Order: sequence, then C-alpha cells, then structure tokens
Amino acid sequence: MQITVETIVIYLNNRLVSDSKAKVSVFDHGFLYGDGVYETLRVYDGTVFKFDEHIDRLFHSASLIGLYIPKTPAQIKSAVYMTIKANRLKEAYVRITVSRGKGPIGLDPALCPKPTFVIMARPFKGYPASYYKKGVKVAVVSTRRNFNRSLNPAIKSLNFLNNIIAKTEAKAAGAYEAVMLNHLGYVAEGTISNIFFVKKGILHTPETGVGILNGITRKTIIDAAKKLGIKVKEGRFRPRSIHNADEVFLSNTSMEVMPVSMVGSKKIRVVSGSITKMIHKEYKRILTDHISLNVQ
Ligand code: PLP
Repeated sequence: MQITVETIVIYLNNRLVSDSKAKVSVFDHGFLYGDGVYETLRVYDGTVFKFDEHIDRLFHSASLIGLYIPKTPAQIKSAVYMTIKANRLKEAYVRITVSRGKGPIGLDPALCPKPTFVIMARPFKGYPASYYKKGVKVAVVSTRRNFNRSLNPAIKSLNFLNNIIAKTEAKAAGAYEAVMLNHLGYVAEGTISNIFFVKKGILHTPETGVGILNGITRKTIIDAAKKLGIKVKEGRFRPRSIHNADEVFLSNTSMEVMPVSMVGSKKIRVVSGSITKMIHKEYKRILTDHISLNVQ
C-alpha cells in the first residue's frame, strides 16, 4: 500500500488497507441486520484511554449476542496501535467494529462462519469550546430506550435505530441530545451518552438496571466524584428530577463531561456549576496522569 498524507488506513480482518480497499460484503449480517458490536475509544497524545475497559466491554457485548471475536485482547490492542500509527495520529478516536460476517440471507448466526473485524482511527477534532462554556440543550423524547429484555442497552450493538430515532426527535425539538426514558418512564440515557444531575450537592445518575449502556466515562466519573467526597446516588429517577436539577451534564468517551443548559424549554439552574466543574477538572487530571504514565 502506498501511503500519502490523505490516505486513510483501515485495519480489516488481519491487515492494514487503504480506505478505498476496505470493502465489506453486502451479505455481511452487520449490514443486513445490524448484527454485531462495536466500541469507540479516545486516543490522547497517542495513547488509548481506558483501553482494558473498552476491550472488556467489547467482549462482553459480543458474549451477550453469542458473537465470537477472532482475536485476543492483546492482538486487538496491537492492531489498534498499528492503525493509529499508520494514520499518524496523536489526538484521535478509534472505532472497533465486529460484525457477524458474510453469510446467506437468514437470521441464524451459524450462517456466518467468519466475523468481520474492522478498526478505524480518525483525528479527533473536539467539540466547540462554547458547548462546555454555555452547555447544550437536551430534550426528553417520546422514543423509549429499548427494553432491556428485548435488546439490552448494555450491548453496544450495531443496531442503533432506537438511538437514531430518538436523536431525530431531539433534533426536531432543537436539542443537541435526547434524553430517553425506559419503558417504565424512568430516565435512562442519551443516544450516545449517559446523564448525570446534581441536586442539593448530591450527584445522581440512573442505575444500570434501568437499562442503559454501562458507560466507561460514567464509571470514571462516579469513582472520581467519590474520591472528591461528593455523594453519588445511582437510582431510578423521573424526568422531573432532571427538570428541577441544580446542574445537569452528559458523559461519554469523546465528550468527557458536557454541561447541559436546557432540558426542553426549562433552563437548568446553573450551567457548568461547581460540581460539574470539579468533576471535569478531576477527569482532566486523571487523563494527564494516564498520558504521563503511557507516553514514552
Ligand atoms: N450510552 C450510549 C447509548 C452510548 O452510545 C454511549 C457511548 O457512545 C454512552 C452511553 C457512553 O459510554 P462511554 O462513556 O463508554 O463512551
């Protein structure tokens, strides 16, 4: 492969190829049925943050759909770093996708003997500084988060229609992110994020049993908050808790800690209040530690 500055290098199955050669069959069940799993990771200064946690979740998601991942965690890690280096990236996001693979039409996973394994690494451009300063608007949408005994949101699956429909609804309401409730009307999560709110100095977030993705950033934040002496309550909350909160923020691997300014037409009391700020500062400190430990 001749690599120029513009070439995007993709890891496909067992080798690096240019994006123009990175082809997947139209018979791949990932394409036909959304049958597969993925992870999105963040690379800071050339080093992947929370790598083990993302790999563990990838294997966990795969196990929940009976999908075999044709690589060991160590092989995946080395393939990810190969991809980052081949694309000459320092600040990046990485997506690992594993789909059921190519097979005849039909739902039976046994039709697909060989999973498709893809790693993409692209520059991470960041979010506008104003989002962190002024906060983003969210809207509680009517689309409910998948019932966890139908399609468990703990599976980071390629089947993203639930989230896409919710996102479309949020966008139509002029909001940046949706807040989905679960089938019983409890606050669950965003389309690509977990949600936190502060009330009377206590940090609240939906418990995993509500039916959410067990966010890696969510866990980092909960641990960081406890370390800072902030009381954390994981539970079941009605949407009014968010409307009446003192502070609200979203979390995910690429946003980190994103303050919320409005929930629907209701303004949040304080945008990026003291607890949101403390937590984001601590998150940045954890990142700095991670970078200094891992960058040679
Ligand atoms: N919830 C959903 C539905 C997501 O898609 C994501 C991430 O993309 C998250 C929560 C946040 O997870 P993490 O912090 O591991 O990025």
